[in-house]
Amino acid sequence: MDPFVPKGEPRPGPEQTCGYKTQGMTCACGRAATWHVMWDSLLDNSLTCDEHMELIQRSWVYDDRHPVVADCAMPGALWSYPDKRCEFPQPDDLGAYLAVLATCREPLLGH
Ligand SMILES: [Zn+2]
Ligand SMILES: [Zn+2]
Repeated sequence: MDPFVPKGEPRPGPEQTCGYKTQGMTCACGRAATWHVMWDSLLDNSLTCDEHMELIQRSWVYDDRHPVVADCAMPGALWSYPDKRCEFPQPDDLGAYLAVLATCREPLLGH
């Protein structure tokens, strides 16, 4: 089985709902997101609910995750690995952040 999640279309922020989409469906899960998942070094990331976080942990590898905070998926907010959250960076502290920008994606369930 492919350990990497199949990625869907980019989602424009700042909606904080679960973007999980069963393959072939047009609507995402849509429940309030509780986890923010970073998939890989391409900085593709997804917002997901508790139920789909469990599925993700059972099914795919990911790079990092943190509980959703107010700044997640907001334009201009960046992923902070050391702080385990998204936040708006201080100008003198940019090295600690990785841009997530418009890379928020829907994970897709195969079959
Ligand atoms: Zn969900
Ligand atoms: Zn986040």
